Amino acid sequence: MGGRRRKKVIVKKVKKTLPKIFVCPNCGGKNLTISINKEENEEVRVAIVKCGRCNLSDTVEITKVEDIVDAYGKFIDKYYGVVKK
Ligand SMILES: [Zn+2]
Repeated sequence: MGGRRRKKVIVKKVKKTLPKIFVCPNCGGKNLTISINKEENEEVRVAIVKCGRCNLSDTVEITKVEDIVDAYGKFIDKYYGVVKK
């Protein structure tokens, strides 16, 4: 694994549902996209996580006050909670 440094990503609050690119915890590539099905009425929304490099995919639930960044955080927690090295 190339020692890629984890850097803080500053994410602006946006209203649009543009997919964001994150670093994949599985392959380390910056190929992880998260998209949210934005249903304004829903209390819980589903964020779809997908890596274009290693085909890792998952879904996490977020509340309507949370954003893609929160989805990513939850996904990371879930990933490391499930996969033990
Ligand atoms: Zn990956």
